[in-house]
Amino acid sequence: MSENPSTPRSVLVTGGNRGIGRAIAEAFIAQGDKVAVTTRNGGAPEGALDVRCDITDPEAVEAAFAQVEEAHGPVEVLVANAGITKDTLLLRMSEDDWSSVIDTNLTGTFRLAKRAAKGMLRLRRGRIILISSVVGLLGSAGQVNYAASKSGLVGLARSLARELGSRSITTNVVSPGFVETDMTDVLTDDQKAMIKAQVPLGRYASTTEVASAVTWLASDGAAYVTGAVIPVDGGLGMGH
Ligand code: NDP
Repeated sequence: MSENPSTPRSVLVTGGNRGIGRAIAEAFIAQGDKVAVTTRNGGAPEGALDVRCDITDPEAVEAAFAQVEEAHGPVEVLVANAGITKDTLLLRMSEDDWSSVIDTNLTGTFRLAKRAAKGMLRLRRGRIILISSVVGLLGSAGQVNYAASKSGLVGLARSLARELGSRSITTNVVSPGFVETDMTDVLTDDQKAMIKAQVPLGRYASTTEVASAVTWLASDGAAYVTGAVIPVDGGLGMGH
């Protein structure tokens, strides 16, 4: 039985060609939703509408929504997953390292949520799910730009939860711990071992474990959950 009896819905997943976003897109496709995936480089999973969109470009975001609406109708579930890292210690961090990460992870998500809310307000329903990170609340040496962008998503989501709640639009944050993807592939074996040693479950998350929190937040069963931060981090961020 489908997890969500109201399918098929128009679902937009940003950054859905690989890693966590791809697993999220595939999970919605498997439950019968109409899924659009936006990326800069293409390569959406089979069954998804492949839309090119750099989320740092407001006009590209507008064009992507127009394309999705034409094919699938107004976006009912937005999963703002696309994100980047540019890690380095504070004194070595350039203006560009800072602003490109903030522009993609935080401002990009603002652009997406603003455009998605337009259609959801008309529908008087919707689900907005933002992919943050355990380091948003825990902090992380070498990631002041990334951690700031990810904690910013919590304030963004909770404000949207208050602004949009009366129209049955929920806004929630999923906060993964470490997941084996291209993003974490740059870490050395020593760094990976050090991280695993701090995780109570003693392992990385799989991309599908993050995806199941997302599909649950989009399901009818989560209709009364808004402004929440759901950790999928093996216990790493406990208490944060
Ligand atoms: P990947 O690096 O594997 O994938 C990132 C995705 O974002 C790609 O699909 C990429 O597509 C897209 N993307 C990046 N920049 C842009 C842009 N400007 N416009 C549009 N799309 C863009 O990352 P993960 O799958 O690991 O991470 C996904 C999300 O989960 C991110 O927000 C990340 O911060 C978060 N996260 C990841 C964790 C991990 O351990 N991996 C832990 C916690 C959170 P393309 O390059 O084609 O544009």
